Amino acid sequence: MKTRSNKKLEKLPPYLFVEIDRKKKAAMERGVDIISLGVGDPDRPTPAHIIKAGQKALEKPANHQYPFGAGLISFRKAVAGWYKSRFNVTLDPETEIWTLLGSKEGIGHFHLAFVDPGDVVLIPEPGYPVYNTGTIFTDGEPYFMPLVEENGFLPDLKKIPESVARKAKVIFVNSPCNPTAAVAPRSFFEELVAFAKKYGIIVAHDAAYSEIFYEEKPMSFLEVPGAMEVGVEFHSLSKTYNMTGWRLGWVCGNAGIVKGLGTVKDNYDSGVFQAVQEAGTEALNGSQQCVEEMRNLYRERRDVFVDGLRKLGWKVNKPKATFYVWARTPQGYGSEETVGKLLDEAGIVCTPGNGMGPSGEGYVRFALTVDVPRLKEALGRMSKIKW
Ligand SMILES: *Cc1c(COP(=O)(O)O)cnc(C)c1O
Repeated sequence: MKTRSNKKLEKLPPYLFVEIDRKKKAAMERGVDIISLGVGDPDRPTPAHIIKAGQKALEKPANHQYPFGAGLISFRKAVAGWYKSRFNVTLDPETEIWTLLGSKEGIGHFHLAFVDPGDVVLIPEPGYPVYNTGTIFTDGEPYFMPLVEENGFLPDLKKIPESVARKAKVIFVNSPCNPTAAVAPRSFFEELVAFAKKYGIIVAHDAAYSEIFYEEKPMSFLEVPGAMEVGVEFHSLSKTYNMTGWRLGWVCGNAGIVKGLGTVKDNYDSGVFQAVQEAGTEALNGSQQCVEEMRNLYRERRDVFVDGLRKLGWKVNKPKATFYVWARTPQGYGSEETVGKLLDEAGIVCTPGNGMGPSGEGYVRFALTVDVPRLKEALGRMSKIKW
C-alpha cells in the first residue's frame, strides 16, 4: 500500500491546535488538573432560543435532503438584515452572500478559486494558520506580513515590495485579530482598498471576532467606499453565538468573488445542513441580548486575568476585542519555553506565539475560555513559578 501523502501535505506543519490538544491530553493522562487557555473555543453553550430553533428545524423532512448552493434564502436574508443593522452595509442576499460550513472551510477553499501556481498570497503573521494552508495546497507563494507591536500589530502595506505586490492575487486580513487582539481602524481599511485597487489584489477579510469587543465596536471592511469592488468578508456564528460545533458561517461582498468561491463549493460540498441554517437564522434575527451577555462575561474575565498578570509582572496590553490575551513572555524566556514551564509547573495550557508565525516569538496567547474562579486559580499557580 502506498500510504505516503503527496508533497503538499508533507509541506504542512502539524496543525498547531491539534498538537496543543495532544500535549494537553497527555498531561491529563498523567493526572494533572489542566487549566486550558489554549484553543479558542467558547466554553459556554449555544443560547437556548437558538437550540430550540434548531430542534424544530430538525423535525422537518425538507431539511433532511441535500441543501445545495448558496444556502437558504431565509438565512441569507437574515445575514443581509444583520449587516444592515450592525454595519449599515447593504448586501444583495441573492448574489453577495454564500453560506459556509464555518468560515475556516471558506477561507481554506478560497485559494482554489483564485490562486494559480506561483501567485503570491499576502498573509499576516502571526495569524490563523488556514490562510497559509490554502496557499500551500494551491502552490501559491506565501508572502508574510509581520504583525509587530511598533505598528499596532497591523500589516504594514508600505513595506510590501512593489515586485511582490504586482505578483499578489489575494491579501488576507483579520480584524479583530487572532492572536494579537488588534482592531484595524478605518484609515487602515481605506489604505487597504487603495492598495488592492492599485495592484488588482482580492481582499479577503476575516471578521470572525467582530462581535467580541469591549469598548468600541469594530467596523466591517465593507463599510469603506470601494471595498465591495475589491473584496469579501468572512463571518462566522462560531464565536458570536457559541456555535463552534454547528459549523456555520458565510462569505459576503463582491458578487464575482462570492461566486468564485461558491463554484468551488458546488463542486466540493453540498451545503450546510438546513436545520443548522435555520438555527443560524434565529441567531441573527432574534434578540441580541445573549451577545451582550457574552461580551460582559469575557470583559470580566479579561479584567481579572490581565490585572492579575500585570501584578505578577507580565507585560500585557488589555485587549479591546477578541477573547485572547497576547502577552509578552517573561524576560529571558522564549515562547516555547514559557509554554513548557506553564504546563509543567502550573498545569496551564496556552499557545506559543511563534506557533502562529515567527513574529509571534516572545509572546504567548491565552484564551479566556474558562470561568473567573479558574482564571484566579491559574493566576495563583503562576504566582509560584520562579522565572
Ligand atoms: C475561530 C476563527 C474562525 C472561525 O472558524 P469557524 O470555522 O467559523 O468556526 C475564523 N478565523 C479566525 C481567525 C478564528 O480564530
